[in-house]
Amino acid sequence: MTRVVNVGGVLLGGGNPVRIQSMNNTKTQDIKGTLEQIARLHDAGCDITRVTVPNQEAADALKTIVKQSPIPVVADIHFDYRMAIEAAKNGASKIRINPGNIGGPEKLKQVADICKERGIPIRVGVNSGSIDRKLVEEYGGVCAENMTKSALDAVKLLEDVDFDDIVISIKSSSPKLTIETYRLMSKACDYPLHVGVTEAGTLKEGVVKSAVGIGTLLAEGIGDTIRVSLTGDPVDEVYAAKSILKALDLTTGGITFVSCPTCGRTEVPLIEIANEIESRISKFPYDLKVSVMGCAVNGPGEAKESDIGLAGGKDEFLLFEKGQIIRKLKAETAVDEFVEEVRRLGEEKSQATL
Ligand code: SF4
Repeated sequence: MTRVVNVGGVLLGGGNPVRIQSMNNTKTQDIKGTLEQIARLHDAGCDITRVTVPNQEAADALKTIVKQSPIPVVADIHFDYRMAIEAAKNGASKIRINPGNIGGPEKLKQVADICKERGIPIRVGVNSGSIDRKLVEEYGGVCAENMTKSALDAVKLLEDVDFDDIVISIKSSSPKLTIETYRLMSKACDYPLHVGVTEAGTLKEGVVKSAVGIGTLLAEGIGDTIRVSLTGDPVDEVYAAKSILKALDLTTGGITFVSCPTCGRTEVPLIEIANEIESRISKFPYDLKVSVMGCAVNGPGEAKESDIGLAGGKDEFLLFEKGQIIRKLKAETAVDEFVEEVRRLGEEKSQATL
């Protein structure tokens, strides 16, 4: 079991739920734009976000952003220890640094001291591209062993200045290397682990790599907080992270959507229908499993574990609940009616659990 770290009131590690993180891609000094994006991330289900703090302007903006953000804000720092100190003074909920490139032990101590004084944890962020050249040569290339060693060396730098409120990340763009490295790290220490595949790519490629890398580790019980890293709108990172957690039953609440792959029996435009229904119900707050199936013959049977479903027939649809057919819906109004039925069932279920 990992130890617990408090990130602005959100607890990481120690068996707490796996927290979803993302990172703003706005200019931090654009306070309005950054706060708008944080609001969208929060609505999508993000627990913690991160903003870059490369200069004084960004550090100053952080003050307002932290005050107005509905979720904890982490300051991402590269090289400049003064920005880490400014971010801590301006209320960052966590600081992300690589202790090895912040300017030496004295400067690191100044960062650690102010963080300690204010109860701000530090994420030791090591990437495959930033590990010590000597370590790369010693092991004949980048591998799980030297990635882990590099991260532990960085952690030791903080421990040497009497700081242990630490979260660790050791990311690579290779899901395989990510898995191997975090497996080693989870055996080597009990600090909470921030898991992700870095530079995973665009939506299509990145979601697959992240699902493999993050999903494998979570299935093994490794990982306390996750970030899906995508080239695109960070809100998509949050949706992808939620899908990974749902696939592993690591989160409850929200819609779990299931649809069949279609086959020769399909007589309705299922792909369009499934996409439309999914987009209309995906933000419903109800804890429901919803199926949209292509045929009335196998659909209800194949979706027995769903709470509610729709199965396509010839010029009509069947509405079913828990595998039992309830009634027929006319093709022209089936989508609208079905969305309303999902809402009704969700409301009923919510009332029943009050
Ligand atoms: S539910 Fe029906 S249409 Fe969909 S894959 Fe199964 S048999 Fe084919």
